[in-house]
Amino acid sequence: MELNKKSISELKELYSNGSVKPSEVVRACLDAISNKDTEIGAFLEVMPEDVLRRARELEKESPEEMPLYGIPIAVKDNICTIGSRTTCASKILEGYVPPYNATVVERLLDAGAIIIGKTNMDEFAMGSSTENSAYQITKNPWNMEFAPGGSSGGSAAAVAASMVPVALGSDTGGSIRQPASLCGVVGLKGTYGRVSRYGLVAFASSLDQIGPITRTVDDSAIVMNVISGRDPFDATTIPDEPGDFRAGLGRGVEQLKIAVPVDLERWDIDAELKDILKDTIEKLEEAGAKIEPVNFPDMDASIACYYVIANAEASSNLARYDGVKYAFRAEAETLDEMYERTRGEGFGDEVKRRILLGTYVLSAGYYDAYYNKAQQVRAMICSRFEAIFSANDLVMLPTVPGPSFRLGERIDNPIEMYLSDIFTTPANIAGIPAISVPAGLTRKGLPLGIQLMAGYTQEEKLLQGAAMLEKIYKFNKG
Ligand code: GLN
Repeated sequence: MELNKKSISELKELYSNGSVKPSEVVRACLDAISNKDTEIGAFLEVMPEDVLRRARELEKESPEEMPLYGIPIAVKDNICTIGSRTTCASKILEGYVPPYNATVVERLLDAGAIIIGKTNMDEFAMGSSTENSAYQITKNPWNMEFAPGGSSGGSAAAVAASMVPVALGSDTGGSIRQPASLCGVVGLKGTYGRVSRYGLVAFASSLDQIGPITRTVDDSAIVMNVISGRDPFDATTIPDEPGDFRAGLGRGVEQLKIAVPVDLERWDIDAELKDILKDTIEKLEEAGAKIEPVNFPDMDASIACYYVIANAEASSNLARYDGVKYAFRAEAETLDEMYERTRGEGFGDEVKRRILLGTYVLSAGYYDAYYNKAQQVRAMICSRFEAIFSANDLVMLPTVPGPSFRLGERIDNPIEMYLSDIFTTPANIAGIPAISVPAGLTRKGLPLGIQLMAGYTQEEKLLQGAAMLEKIYKFNKG
């Protein structure tokens, strides 16, 4: 029956009619991991005994009460899990075991999910290829010479290779949606504050959001129903109850107004992706949606704005890794030398680059020119989106300008790597929800993704539109 290939909704069905048990499902996933992951490298840690023990405990409970009963889930390694290491794929957190669970992890466990392991990522979620991990490379399951994207590359690869039906990622500037697009799976980042960040190791606190990577849109909604909502441990969570994320799924797109940037030509978008976009517009119109061309001149500014704000916040957030409080400490004669050597040896090159850039833009002489300016640009981008969403329900555009790239191809060119975040960073800057839906394969067999964005807290509409895209593309690796 290949239980590892089943979606969450299929597994729920099988559990409720009693045809499978959690231990059989996790065994199928563990088998898939042992068959495939030596080559793919999606996981940093899997604990088979704990997983099977939890599955057997669940077998004493009833599936009806628990929305994620017996669902195996992989968790990105920057999300705290009691008793298993949380390293952010950094040497500076090597062997760190948190004394608490992230709120999302608590909620998943209460809902009956089984945490199967921790996934590889770019160190501290900084990157777009997962090559910045201090531990290992993750390969794209569609072609092992290509990158899975990043920074949640391990999570996306694990779901794409059917090692788990769902994985959590985190998205600061695209790190859920970009790897989802490159691996042919669904990746959702909710409205800022929709999902608690308590227990997510901070990269850029005003941008970070945890979200699901799944093989279907419905599964994404099912997981959001469990992990969203106010959390007293995170004062930035949205106080209102989110409602049912599945509510809009079967509704179609009749009368929905979908804005498409008119000037997409300005960006260097892959030709096959452009064709898909054109075709999608036609199909959405046939389904009753109204396509509205919109101007989006500020999009170009989003990358610069993002890399100033994200790095500024990162330089402050990462100050805590000093060799005193957390895992790694370098040997030294004096305290100052210990700080320097710990940070010098513990952080990788990309993280150091970000800390230096962030410290620079926050320094007294440059604060106004860079940090303050970036905040102004952020306000401008937010008001542009407000105007767009006052007249439209959704915005549609590619997730990334093209398909995946070869491992090693971009790693020495950070600017090129940063520029590929052009379409994902605006949603983080504006704090609005966005989703990447797999749209098909290039002639060379690499996945392409289309992105939808919705107004503040409008996830229901976002998922409504995404469900229609899924119906149009009929894409599922199986
Ligand atoms: N690629 C972006 C960066 O390197 C986004 C990372 C993220 O969303 N965590 O900062």
